[in-house]
Amino acid sequence: MNALPSGSLARSPGEPLNVLWLQSGGCGGCSMSLLCADTPDLPGTWRDAGIRLLWHPSLSLETGVDVITLMEDVLADRLRLDVLCIEGALLRGPNGTGRFHMLAGTGLPMIDWVQRLSAKAHLVAAVGSCAAWGGITAGGDNPTEACGLQHEDEHPGGLLGESFRTPGRPGTRAEWPVINIAGCPTHPGWVLDTLMALAADALTPADLDALGRPRFYADQLVHHGCTRNEYYEFKASAEQPSDLGCMMEHMGCKGTQAHADCNTRLWNGEGSCTRGGYACISCTEPGFQAPGHAFHATPKIAGIPIGLPTDMPKAWYVALASLSKSATPKRVKHNATADHVVVPPAIRRTRLK
Ligand code: SF4
Ligand code: SF4
Repeated sequence: MNALPSGSLARSPGEPLNVLWLQSGGCGGCSMSLLCADTPDLPGTWRDAGIRLLWHPSLSLETGVDVITLMEDVLADRLRLDVLCIEGALLRGPNGTGRFHMLAGTGLPMIDWVQRLSAKAHLVAAVGSCAAWGGITAGGDNPTEACGLQHEDEHPGGLLGESFRTPGRPGTRAEWPVINIAGCPTHPGWVLDTLMALAADALTPADLDALGRPRFYADQLVHHGCTRNEYYEFKASAEQPSDLGCMMEHMGCKGTQAHADCNTRLWNGEGSCTRGGYACISCTEPGFQAPGHAFHATPKIAGIPIGLPTDMPKAWYVALASLSKSATPKRVKHNATADHVVVPPAIRRTRLK
């Protein structure tokens, strides 16, 4: 068990960032993802960054009464809670009682604990798209009445309500909405960078986008850095899963609309959905779990994809697509529908200029 912080409950400069991580209605995938963080020593990385993990259901030894005592210490102002991290959707069912998810040994619904702890936390972070928007857990008929901390899909509200704010570091007068570290699962780097920046007082509410996502990754598009960009330029499209071409036109890729840095940050140091041959299904976006079409197919009207690249008017897309298709080099066209490079780039006989 961690020792109680000494002195006032306001965090002083140099004191570690106290983080409590609770799991609600989800698959635990965001915790699994965290274990793939690009470091051989996750606890050491946290420690060196000034982050103290008060408790995590999979990573801590304490259980039962120790954990309940810890949470009661927070509620009684005996233990400072700097960041409450919630993984998984909040289950309000049945009929708003929250009794589908009771916190073992407490006789209380998980949503009650989350609401009460959120009122004490200096910051609240939704880890993953379930905690942010409801995510996969809220899919279909949503019999568990799952929602996110401050959103229900794209609609503000969720468990804590649209107007919920936390003070951040006391004395700064900053008002923080829930920090939505969205992704399904969320990238371990997005979680680590967020917590490290908070520990260093290097993140402000202005560093969050309109959906509460940290802008260091949400101001990017998955399309940035995709290895299929040359195919995209010429609208040379994949037609089946193993093809090398761009997956936007036929295979359901939303990389030109999805806010995330997956193709520049990469996963496990080298991969991404599109590099693995899978369309980006925009897992960082609210409502991604129910796009209204098969994930692997692009919905179209009159042959034009409905979901056009962010910032691009439809008329431009139609004009550019037709122009670029007419200019597609043979190499790009052939390779787009092959599972390996069949036509290599030409070798110039003169020095490159
Ligand atoms: S496959 Fe997706 S992310 Fe890659 S270039 Fe095409 S649209 Fe962009
Ligand atoms: S590429 Fe798209 S679907 Fe895959 S993890 Fe990134 S945002 Fe999510």
